[in-house]
Amino acid sequence: MFVIVTISAVIGFAGLCYFFVPWFYGRISRALLAHRVRKLGALVLTFDDGPGSRLTRPILDLLAEHNAKATFFVTGRKLAGREYILREAADRGHEIGLHGYHHLNHWKVSPWRAINDIVQIKKATDAVLGRKDGVYAFRPPFGNLNLLSMIYLLAKRIPVIYWTRDFGDTRRFDAWLAANKDGKSNEPEPILPIETSGDVILAHDFDRTETAVDGYLLACVKATLDLAKKNNLRILTVSQLLNVKD
Ligand SMILES: [Zn+2]
Repeated sequence: MFVIVTISAVIGFAGLCYFFVPWFYGRISRALLAHRVRKLGALVLTFDDGPGSRLTRPILDLLAEHNAKATFFVTGRKLAGREYILREAADRGHEIGLHGYHHLNHWKVSPWRAINDIVQIKKATDAVLGRKDGVYAFRPPFGNLNLLSMIYLLAKRIPVIYWTRDFGDTRRFDAWLAANKDGKSNEPEPILPIETSGDVILAHDFDRTETAVDGYLLACVKATLDLAKKNNLRILTVSQLLNVKD
């Protein structure tokens, strides 16, 4: 009986560590990120799940109009056939980060699979960009790491970047589409829940099924950039945010 209880306790504790430690690490990382971005008075625009055939390049043009640089957290499964878009983003001075090859939730797959997914996306990104052992930040899909993927990233000194503000684009798109079922109104009214003191914004540049929302996302990004200018926020990439002197 004692042995069973002991084994159960050990398994329970290990399981708790497996999820709780990286969850806690994520909470601390987010708090530190928020502190830093607001201390610097910065806006960091990040786009996940791309590259997208339709959206990424118009976003690049919009950023160029505002003389702004963003960070694109690339997903391996979206790369095939869109390598030129990622190269263009890098050539135009934007930062490329990693978002997993298969966009796996690290809480739902084996630790080995999660780590292999990070290795795979790094290799694929290096190959597309012609880099040898490039330096990238990592954004965990769904914001989740497990204990071993967290340890792997720390050991490899790959910065893990969360966000301070979810642009909420998917949810807002749904609301916008519902409100525009008749197709009469194409004028989006972006809601901009950003802190005037700074934010790391999470948005997405993958190809949606609903093409109508592309213009809406672009309008949201433009309005955010305008608001950043109005509030004198510095627009930084992720590595600039981490490395810039205070
Ligand atoms: Zn994602």
